[in-house]
Amino acid sequence: MLSLYNTLTRKKEPFIPLNPEKTGLYVCGMTVYDYCHLGHARVMVVFDMVSRWLRELGYKLEYVRNITDIDDKIIARANEKNISIQELTQYFIQAMHDDAAALGVLPPDHEPRATDYIDQMITMISDIIAHGKGYAAANGDVYYAVREFPAYGQLSGKSLDDLRAGERVEVDSYKRDPLDFVLWKAAKPQEPAWDSPWGKGRPGWHIECSAMSRALLGPTFDIHGGGADLQFPHHENEIAQSCGAEGHGLSCDQAEELLESHVKYWLHNGFIRVDNEKMSKSLGNFFTIREVLQQYDAEVVRFFILRAHYRSPLNYSDVHLNDAKNALNRLYTALRDTPAANITIKAELNDYTRRFYQAMNDDFGTVEAVAVLFELANEVNKTHDPLLAGCLKGLAGLLGLLQRVPETFLKGTVSDTQGLSTEAIEAMIEQRQQARQAKNWPESDRIRDELLAAGIILEDSAQGTQWRRE
Ligand SMILES: [Zn+2]
Repeated sequence: MLSLYNTLTRKKEPFIPLNPEKTGLYVCGMTVYDYCHLGHARVMVVFDMVSRWLRELGYKLEYVRNITDIDDKIIARANEKNISIQELTQYFIQAMHDDAAALGVLPPDHEPRATDYIDQMITMISDIIAHGKGYAAANGDVYYAVREFPAYGQLSGKSLDDLRAGERVEVDSYKRDPLDFVLWKAAKPQEPAWDSPWGKGRPGWHIECSAMSRALLGPTFDIHGGGADLQFPHHENEIAQSCGAEGHGLSCDQAEELLESHVKYWLHNGFIRVDNEKMSKSLGNFFTIREVLQQYDAEVVRFFILRAHYRSPLNYSDVHLNDAKNALNRLYTALRDTPAANITIKAELNDYTRRFYQAMNDDFGTVEAVAVLFELANEVNKTHDPLLAGCLKGLAGLLGLLQRVPETFLKGTVSDTQGLSTEAIEAMIEQRQQARQAKNWPESDRIRDELLAAGIILEDSAQGTQWRRE
């Protein structure tokens, strides 16, 4: 039986789905104003692993990962580049899909975009106000009244007073309480705006997830995931909104019950650090996924992420990545030397499968699961048993690993220095194609030059673009 660590209760709990016919998983997705970075890679790969495992166990999963396609940063970036918001977001949504595909991340069942759910957000804000938990302020914004929701702080384990002490009091604020947060922002000149009962404006960020999860999974669902950095305030606010809109949360005594009426299990993946420091643009140690994929094969990056436990902090460095690469080489070498038989993987197949399933069922214990893969590889190297090799390939496949032709992987689709993986090259060619279609010649030239610098030569013809290595 699967057990998972619930951030809300701070303990491991057996996983019992609310509805056997539909297991809901909602994960906070990306704000599409720039390329995805390593932190995004971790969220995508971790919850890809989680969704694969839930499906392997037979749960009828519905996996939702949203896209934030309207936000201050998006508006600012589109203005800066002098393009429309739609052009900007479409470009980065495509880039995100390319990165995800390169990393072996399967598409979620639903990928709702915030701007397609404005009506549902307006309905939800109206419901929140009707239950006395929201108010329209004099400046035209609508805020959530945090003091009307006694359970606020349960997820992050803090009381309202603790949280309040950490807030700066804004001098000319229209909020009743410093912790109140915006549900609807009054329109500013030159910004996209939608009609609402409170005048023209646009939704706040937090309401998006509450409205989209309610629309696609219902007011109550099984698992909500995201990066640990989203626990406060984003997830705390989601709980307040989702419960508040249903009219729950009337007294402190009901706090626990009321939280059960929204999301049953909260899962958070740990941070990524770079060379043991926080990854940040100002420290100059900030990497996008495509920068990393210029140096390392995408499967190496996936393996690097999955061989750590999803809740542990993960340290990115060349030493760690090279180590991951060598380790993955060892697994592929075993499969090259002993071709894998095609077998059906079951938990009860043998001792290795039993231990692998046990590890994964213990809060997605990929560290132990990967250790089982190495023991299997050692045994395959000793015995050259195709059934054991099939077992290795089959188990690794449950993590989205080891499914390539071993020779291809071992020849190195990526050179040891700065070659690009085939997936990354094709993703970049696709980007360039889009730039050409949009007659964005500087971008198209930039991509061609970037590829050339990496030793990739493009040849355009009427049939499309061919490429070869220098
Ligand atoms: Zn969210």
